[in-house]
Amino acid sequence: MKASITFLGTGTSQGIPVIGCKCKVCQSEDTRDNRLRCALLIRTPKTHIAIDTGPDFRIQMLRAKNERLDAVLMTHEHNDHIAGLDDVRPYNFMQWSDMPVYAQDRVCNMLRTRFPYIFEAEKYPGAPMVELHSIDKTNQLEIGDLEVIPVEILHGKLPILGFRIRNMAYLTDMKTIPDLEMAKLKDLDTLIVNALHHQEHHSHLNLKQALAFAEKAGARQTWFIHMSHNMGLHAEIDAQLPDGINLAYDGLEIALR
Ligand SMILES: [Zn+2]
Ligand SMILES: [Zn+2]
Ligand SMILES: [Zn+2]
Repeated sequence: MKASITFLGTGTSQGIPVIGCKCKVCQSEDTRDNRLRCALLIRTPKTHIAIDTGPDFRIQMLRAKNERLDAVLMTHEHNDHIAGLDDVRPYNFMQWSDMPVYAQDRVCNMLRTRFPYIFEAEKYPGAPMVELHSIDKTNQLEIGDLEVIPVEILHGKLPILGFRIRNMAYLTDMKTIPDLEMAKLKDLDTLIVNALHHQEHHSHLNLKQALAFAEKAGARQTWFIHMSHNMGLHAEIDAQLPDGINLAYDGLEIALR
């Protein structure tokens, strides 16, 4: 097996279809229009890392047939990125070890608040086993055979993390990026970045802004994620994008160089 990246989910916080919605995207029969909440899986023969454990984490791990997990990188504390943390339990039991979770200090504290039973001194037997590691934009990490460079981006006003791993960078829920952090995105083969829909949004790039950002970053290939149903049909929108820029879709697997 070669090193790969799997898009576990590419939808915004409600997922697509949206419950009860009758729009053409939510009713589409193209499987690429079904989007679970955003998460990514990075696998080398030695190391398996997930970025985020949203509400769909369990089904995402099943779909990817991912039978081992060495670490979780958390981008930020919003529910669509952390709500599935409980489902690291099968890895705890299979690997008989705590799951290392890397996140900013603020996010670590939020995880302690949101999942108090995981961090209790006297834990319920069978509760998840999580080992929190506080990181920031200055911490370069070694996880197995992968080097991870945190990239600080702004989600509206909230500083959150994206991650560069080899020649791939994963930036979700971004609105802006400081110039100094932009320097971490040089010479990318693969840029993965959020593009919500066509309208202006206070904390997410819309399609136009994401296209401008992709052009500035200059990666060989850019994939858009965190789409809402208002983006439109995958087939229609993807066909209109410039060469080297595409909408990602759930289950897409590409090589990690
Ligand atoms: Zn999100
Ligand atoms: Zn809809
Ligand atoms: Zn968010």
